[in-house]
Amino acid sequence: MADSPGEIEKLIRSHLAGFAGYSASTSPETLAGKVAVPVENIIKMDANENPYGCSPRVNQALADCRNMNIYPDNGQMELRRLLAGYTGVAAEYIVASGGSNQLIDLIVRLFVDSGDELINCVPTFDIYRFSTEICGGTLVNVPRDDNFAVDVKAVKAAINDRTKLIFLANPNSPTGNIIPRQDILEIIDTGIPVVVDEAYYEFSGETAVPLVSRYKNLMVLRTFSKWAGLAGMRVGYGIFPARIADYLMAIKMPYSVSVAAIIAVQESLKDLDYLLGRVKAIITERERLFTELRKLKWLKPFPSQANFIFCNVLEGSAGELQQKLREKGILVRYFDKPLLQNSIRISAGKPEHTDALMKTLHALKD
Ligand code: PMP
Repeated sequence: MADSPGEIEKLIRSHLAGFAGYSASTSPETLAGKVAVPVENIIKMDANENPYGCSPRVNQALADCRNMNIYPDNGQMELRRLLAGYTGVAAEYIVASGGSNQLIDLIVRLFVDSGDELINCVPTFDIYRFSTEICGGTLVNVPRDDNFAVDVKAVKAAINDRTKLIFLANPNSPTGNIIPRQDILEIIDTGIPVVVDEAYYEFSGETAVPLVSRYKNLMVLRTFSKWAGLAGMRVGYGIFPARIADYLMAIKMPYSVSVAAIIAVQESLKDLDYLLGRVKAIITERERLFTELRKLKWLKPFPSQANFIFCNVLEGSAGELQQKLREKGILVRYFDKPLLQNSIRISAGKPEHTDALMKTLHALKD
């Protein structure tokens, strides 16, 4: 097997030579000895995880589980039935996956052939680009306006006979804003397959799920990562027109949702009051974080309907700010690229996380 420089590149799919991948969040254990606090005291505000953790029922049920040695039901019958109960949509319209990222990838693989186009309303969640590039599709980036609203006119103007998909994150990541219902409808009315990614639905309360039965080109994605505190479990789902759901079930990897993840969904849905209480606490904390951040003249926070707040850094470098916070054991995400210049994204956490962050931010600039 050739392994000298350039040899592998002759063998792999040519458009993947030099592919940069996706820049994922930092795992605390990789920071051991590199930051001022022990790993267990690191405050993670960089990946929109749920600091309250999952329902205690999930931990108990996993400890009691006796069938990890058996493959899960590939048809996801029980899981889809449970998700039907939660969403109010019949099971045949639902497909689950190991995280909603996996569904994004599956949808792109179902629709996008080499040379096909995908409309992406940038800045937005980077996995849409990631999967499109791996499939050999062409990304058509339609910039949002200064407040990150989708430019519906420009989206419609970008459509041509190679357009296969339009992705809309609602709320958007990393900016946290919602797309008005009217704009979503106008984009669905183009007839192009539209994916509305509602990873943060439980925080925003806005959903296009009831529209799926009316439109054969609408798909809606959800996840248990954020509201249910199951990011590490990897479980997401989507609501699709039944024919698309059938195709996704056909092309997905067998057994793509683990026995553990199915148990986690079951137990989470039995503990909705507890979990939605936590969601409420995070929303309250998001609003307090926004108010506190606004007091700093050198940051410009944007209103958010998700569980994080996006801020422009008006003085100094966002990268250096992220680094300084990290040295103190506080992790945030930073961006410095076209359309996301010199900015940070901070996940809303527990009140004590907001306090620790604000104390450190004040100390850095006072
Ligand atoms: N969509 C959006 C908009 C996100 O921000 C995320 C998480 N960062 C995901 C999808 C993926 O979530 P998961 O794969 O954990 O379900």
